[in-house]
Amino acid sequence: MMAGVSGPRSSGSRVLPRDVAELKALAERQPALAPAATLQVDLIEVIRRVQGRLTTPGIETTPDALRGRVISGQPLLDFNQIAFDWNDVRLLIRQVTDVLRRHEVIDAPTSSALHTIGRSPALPDVMRDWFDQRPLPEVEMLGDVLAWSARPYLQRIAEVLQQRVSLDDWAQRTCPVCAAEPEFSVITLSGERQLVCGRCHVRWPFNPIACPYCGNDDRRTIKSMATPDGWYRVMICAPCGRYIKALDGRKSNRPLLPYADVIATLPLDAAVMGSEK
Ligand SMILES: [Zn+2]
Ligand SMILES: [Zn+2]
Repeated sequence: MMAGVSGPRSSGSRVLPRDVAELKALAERQPALAPAATLQVDLIEVIRRVQGRLTTPGIETTPDALRGRVISGQPLLDFNQIAFDWNDVRLLIRQVTDVLRRHEVIDAPTSSALHTIGRSPALPDVMRDWFDQRPLPEVEMLGDVLAWSARPYLQRIAEVLQQRVSLDDWAQRTCPVCAAEPEFSVITLSGERQLVCGRCHVRWPFNPIACPYCGNDDRRTIKSMATPDGWYRVMICAPCGRYIKALDGRKSNRPLLPYADVIATLPLDAAVMGSEK
């Protein structure tokens, strides 16, 4: 029990209460976002209960070997290194599914299909396929449920890896730790950009102009919009049709809250969709 409490300084378990407070404030400030914000708070509460029990995983790879992987563009984490407690993972899948059902994000048949996967002896294989980004059984929201259920373990090992090696020389478009795509970004005070992994929330520096999904860096084909207060921006890439949102640290009065900022920026997603019509 105590091992979890004395974890790394940047522990996600300490950041989460700020996300929750911000989401609750957001729900009051913008009632239209309240359903999404309360769903997010309920999901956070589920993973927080497990986070308190996590121990800090040991990493056998030497700092030099980790550095070598960063330089050669090889992600740091292999599935086998993640210290899953499968009983807790099954519990997480059950609870995350129940939260989604309670919020009517999924219907009853989908809920029971997700519960079945959570109980299945093949769960570790399904999780491996999810981690390695291979096709999954066709059940609605399965990827999201696995992402929430794996997140405490992924984040914890990502924190440990980040303390061992600098990610500054990682110039790829996918996460240096878990190889997933970025889902958000941060513009720093000096105008540089950091991408934020959609799975483990690790951040890494990336060209502030280029599209992190296709690599396009032709300014004429990249459109940018900001919220009226300037806190958030979105960059839309014409060639690949994708976009990435950012917290603009030059305008915001707080650092990124990864769970809260994805919800706070839902109006920006709507604006992007609207502008494409
Ligand atoms: Zn990652
Ligand atoms: Zn693109």
